[in-house]
Amino acid sequence: MTTHFANYIDGEWVNGAATFDNRNPAHTDELVGTFAKGTARDIEAAAAAAAAALPGWSGLSGPARGSILYQAADILDRRFEQVAADMTREEGKTLPEAKGEVRRSINILRYFAGEGARMPGMLVPSERDRVHMFALRKPVGVVGLVTPWNFPSAIPAWKLAPALICGNTVVLKPASAAPLSAWRIVEALHEAGAPKGVVNFVAGSGGELGKALVGAGPLRAVSFTGSCEIGSWLHGEASKRRLRIQLEMGGKNPTIVLADADFRSAVENVVNAAFFSTGQKCTATSRAIVEDAIYDRFVEAVVERTKKLKVGDGMQPGIEIGPCVDEAQMETVLRYVEAGRRESGEPKCGGRRLAENGLDQGWFVEPTVFADVAEDHVIAREEIFGPVLAILRARDFEDAMRIANNIPFGLSSSIQTSNLSRAFEYIYRAEAGLLTVNLPSAGVEYQLPFGGTKDSSFGPKEQGPAALEFYSDWKTVYLKY
Ligand code: NAP
Repeated sequence: MTTHFANYIDGEWVNGAATFDNRNPAHTDELVGTFAKGTARDIEAAAAAAAAALPGWSGLSGPARGSILYQAADILDRRFEQVAADMTREEGKTLPEAKGEVRRSINILRYFAGEGARMPGMLVPSERDRVHMFALRKPVGVVGLVTPWNFPSAIPAWKLAPALICGNTVVLKPASAAPLSAWRIVEALHEAGAPKGVVNFVAGSGGELGKALVGAGPLRAVSFTGSCEIGSWLHGEASKRRLRIQLEMGGKNPTIVLADADFRSAVENVVNAAFFSTGQKCTATSRAIVEDAIYDRFVEAVVERTKKLKVGDGMQPGIEIGPCVDEAQMETVLRYVEAGRRESGEPKCGGRRLAENGLDQGWFVEPTVFADVAEDHVIAREEIFGPVLAILRARDFEDAMRIANNIPFGLSSSIQTSNLSRAFEYIYRAEAGLLTVNLPSAGVEYQLPFGGTKDSSFGPKEQGPAALEFYSDWKTVYLKY
């Protein structure tokens, strides 16, 4: 029997005329569920419900709002195994990766639940006698949240939790390729007792719903994570209405590998960051920039390690790399592989769709390594969002820094070195919002600000205490006593 998932508007589970399928990218014959296909009218109804719920929700104390988030976290925790399995089935990442992500979502809900009791304001001395000066936070209002498929639980969680704890009400539009993981969080918030209209969920076509959302009268802000193309369009539309906007978009993330690095760990870190989650992390390494002195040995070691990666259905034990999320994503990856072949030559490993041993029912691509990639090659400049690594040669540290920064993106960046001075030099000069040293470029936690720079991002950062800046406004008070 197929499970059906309705939209959630004004505290009710709502179905419409149409549905769409959510399929397992590892076995496309497996229907994970059907979803109600929301319309522009649903978005309008959701925004109106959110507006009506705003005074009540924002009027609750921070700890009272926090207690709903704590309860939602507990509900997800009780369903941990089920929710993680749902994610593997709808998105394709391996079950251990899905478990890690669901754990992170639960932690995010609890972290921001705690902010309800802190919600730091400002109190400063006045220059005037007997004047008391302070600033307190107030919610922004109705906020639209638009999320991608690659972290289908954590990204909705890291937008929903700070939005709600600050007293806003929300309309969430999840990615069509993987809406179930976000739906599970909304279900948990519903069961935790979120008042009607505070959280609204409308799944369906991004084009139709996105347009309706950014045009919805009550909306005051939009937080978007996804591609640069859609983010830029949304930015233009939101600016026309002077909506507050936060955009987290694509990357072309470098890992610099210096000759003095711990060689084995550098190989592991690059392979991990390039291929885990099938390279479908916004923070994945897609350019390894390797110092000349160890270049050939490093390429050889990365290729050897990559060939050992086990690709398959993420539900199976021992599988390290799952499928691309859908056929369109797989076709995009294969097109970039062909572009790589034309410009950089035959890949050192991988480079084709995998269809043997039962994989023909899914969207699997071999982890692919290109070496001797030049800076101006397409695969060194454009985001691929799949299991493809380009290895570039750098003369020395200075050359590696130049190559790493010579790109319009600025999301994550990494260096592998045992030289502390080089590491600090890199930290100060790297043009990216998220840096790692002797770790994979991917694998962030929720307690610190998250977000990029340059064309990768726009607006205030997400996660950590920084998240409060986007989801709250300051009210400044001068009081004579
Ligand atoms: P996408 O195609 O831009 O879609 C993102 C979301 O926008 C989906 O919910 C999509 O709905 C919706 N959408 C589509 N058209 C829209 C429109 N006209 N107006 C408003 N919303 C619209 O991105 P994706 O393929 O899901 O995700 C991959 C991209 O996300 C990559 O570029 C990756 O780097 C980026 N990403 C960035 C971060 C970060 O923090 N910087 C994190 C994760 C992912 P449908 O699914 O219905 O089309």
